[in-house]
Amino acid sequence: MALMTGSQYMDSIKGLKLTAHILGEKADNTANHPLVRPSLRAVAATYDQAHDSNDCGLFTAISPLTGKTVNRFSHLHQSAADLVRKVEMQRRCGNLTGCCFQRCVGMDAANAVFSTSFECDKALGTNFHERFAAYWAKIQENDFTVDGAMTDPKGDRGKRPGQQDDPDVYLRVVDRGPDGIVVRGAKLHQTGLLNSHEVLVMPTMTLRPDEEQFAVCFALPTNTPGLRYIYGRQASDTRKAEQNPADAGNTQFGGQEVMVVFEDVFVPNERIFLDGQTQFSGMLVERFAAYHRQSYGGCKVGVGDVLIGACALIARMNGVDHTWHIRDKLTEMIHLNETLFACGIACSARGHKTPAGNYMVDLLLANVCKLNVTRFPYEIARLATDIAGGLIGTLPSSADFDDPITGPYIKKYLAGAAGVDTLDRIKVLRFIENLVAGAGCVAYLIESMHGAGPPMAQRIMISRQANLEGKIGQVKSILGISGQD
Ligand code: SF4
Ligand code: FE
Repeated sequence: MALMTGSQYMDSIKGLKLTAHILGEKADNTANHPLVRPSLRAVAATYDQAHDSNDCGLFTAISPLTGKTVNRFSHLHQSAADLVRKVEMQRRCGNLTGCCFQRCVGMDAANAVFSTSFECDKALGTNFHERFAAYWAKIQENDFTVDGAMTDPKGDRGKRPGQQDDPDVYLRVVDRGPDGIVVRGAKLHQTGLLNSHEVLVMPTMTLRPDEEQFAVCFALPTNTPGLRYIYGRQASDTRKAEQNPADAGNTQFGGQEVMVVFEDVFVPNERIFLDGQTQFSGMLVERFAAYHRQSYGGCKVGVGDVLIGACALIARMNGVDHTWHIRDKLTEMIHLNETLFACGIACSARGHKTPAGNYMVDLLLANVCKLNVTRFPYEIARLATDIAGGLIGTLPSSADFDDPITGPYIKKYLAGAAGVDTLDRIKVLRFIENLVAGAGCVAYLIESMHGAGPPMAQRIMISRQANLEGKIGQVKSILGISGQD
């Protein structure tokens, strides 16, 4: 089946019957759970847009593996132009949903595993690339959503994986046989995992020669026995269950973060793409991180667009849209947002072909992109809070709005400019609240800081990629200085 629709996708997730726990209860049907449903709809948008006559060019591509049209979220990038289109597609998704639409992680993981497995095979004579290409062709044919799982719990951060009191805090191979391996451990911060058909697991860090048991990359269907999911809480998340935009802000769409535990899970050989080759763990981590740092130059910009739009709208509803300082704040927000987009486009446009044939982003610029993402959305959110005013922290509930005693007071005293519907004004304020302080700020702020690695991870990569000696040489050449090497 190629190119599912959103509703076909949602039906396919319903059938998975995952072992999931949400708010202390076993959730038998995660796809119908009120806290999960908005996040499922956000992923469904990535399917529907592939059928949209205006967007299908952006949301589809021709697979080099199958020669068929696939959703770009499962594409192996074939050119720098493909990388640019990926970022544009992510911005578009952010515009449509105003949240994290989750499906990018698998796309980024697949592109990293595809090229790393090729180079590993070439150096060590393994056969991981062929396996992965066969596996990914099936993902494309089924139009599956894949979660890319990287972050281990890590326990004592001052100790290496093998030195931990509890070795399971780094996911590892605990047994092996002729047909496969058995893995134990956990992955944290798994975006959209309950909405995924498959999980593609990677090592969490660059590993050393005596850390083979942790150097493992593999894929499993998400309903494999032994996988247990524990749902992450988000600020004001139970407001999603109330289904009222005057309380929740964004009731249609939302993000999802999950912890997954691997309770001695068997992985068959054909689904293993790295097994003990520690010298390729760093390459895999670095490439996945770079792709995902590029991604943020699209998705966060798309969410930034709707936040800026909400601020312009509330300013109009408040009757201050022509005030110079409001216009200046909106201009500053746009400047910051477009700077992030420029970084996302730049690291894509300067992408290069890997030996495996797919395209890799420019590492330096992808890291610059993400480092800016750890800052600019916070400033945009600060300006949004400024423009929105204190009401985003003090608004009464929709129940009070509907109450015959309190409702008329709310309508009277929370009215804005002439002709503005008070309930509409409340909805816009709640939408802003959602992104700067509610469930939406997980994707817009916390994930901007920590997703694809915290700021120091980008600083390390920037310092490695920067060619400082080259810059010193340029000065020496201009000034005619020799020596000082
Ligand atoms: Fe995609 Fe952005 Fe969510 Fe990552 S944070 S999965 S790039 S929408
Ligand atoms: Fe992310």
